[in-house]
Amino acid sequence: MNIEMQKYIKLKNNLEELKLKQMHLHLDETIEQYNSGNTTFTELLLGLTNYELKAKEERMINSCVRTAGFPYLKTTDDFDFNFQPSVNKKQIIGFKDMRFVDNKENILFIGNPGVGKTHLATAIGIEAAKNHRSTYFVSCNDLIMQLKKALLENRLEQRLKYYARMKLLIIDEVGYLPLDDVSSKLFFQLIAKRYEKNSTIITTNKPLSEWTETFGDIVIANAILDRLLHHSHVIKIIGPSYRTKNILPKTNKNAV
Ligand code: ADP
Ligand code: MG
Repeated sequence: MNIEMQKYIKLKNNLEELKLKQMHLHLDETIEQYNSGNTTFTELLLGLTNYELKAKEERMINSCVRTAGFPYLKTTDDFDFNFQPSVNKKQIIGFKDMRFVDNKENILFIGNPGVGKTHLATAIGIEAAKNHRSTYFVSCNDLIMQLKKALLENRLEQRLKYYARMKLLIIDEVGYLPLDDVSSKLFFQLIAKRYEKNSTIITTNKPLSEWTETFGDIVIANAILDRLLHHSHVIKIIGPSYRTKNILPKTNKNAV
């Protein structure tokens, strides 16, 4: 084995030991580029390190998306806006610039089951996670269960803080089940903690006029709505369910 070959093998080993997988992977093509003589040393090294950075960024994004707990990974590209014309495509795509998160604004998706509320909330959430905004997706039921558990275990404040500091919290399916007195108060405490500090996306099948029933108390319901609606985008989706689009005839009957 000639000296050059030995050095090459040592270099590969070094890259492996340093866990620079992408540089290891792209070393041969970089050497070829060098041998063709058209590229400067700086350019070659820049190219190699860019591969590494790109992979690091992708790993980071994947881990943010994983920890956010989305029910499925669907984006706005997967959403058929023609199927649901009451959804303003421009407005939804606009949320991807993250200004609503940075301005601490809320989004409320209101509509019957199957119209795409969770899909759109998830799509926006994935974008937020990709853009380095701490994001957490939770169903209203699970959220309440966790807060109740924390209350019993004397660590409610800690749990509330955990949820409150997420840059974007998505609470799915508010109103599917009516909440008891303790649950309603816990929900209010969380919304009050997040108010004007961080963004919340809510999906609900209940028109806001029926939230008093959901929360079992007009004062609590109004206090929650007051805070949620103060800086908010309310998106009412009126249209057919995508789930049953091939089964049921189209209807305009809607909860909103
Ligand atoms: P909900 O409004 O009840 O939260 P989802 O958002 O979960 O409904 O939508 C139900 C299913 O239909 C999901 O699999 C979702 O991806 C799909 N879906 C809903 N609307 C559309 C649409 N306009 N284009 C493509 N898929 C859609
Ligand atoms: Mg849903």
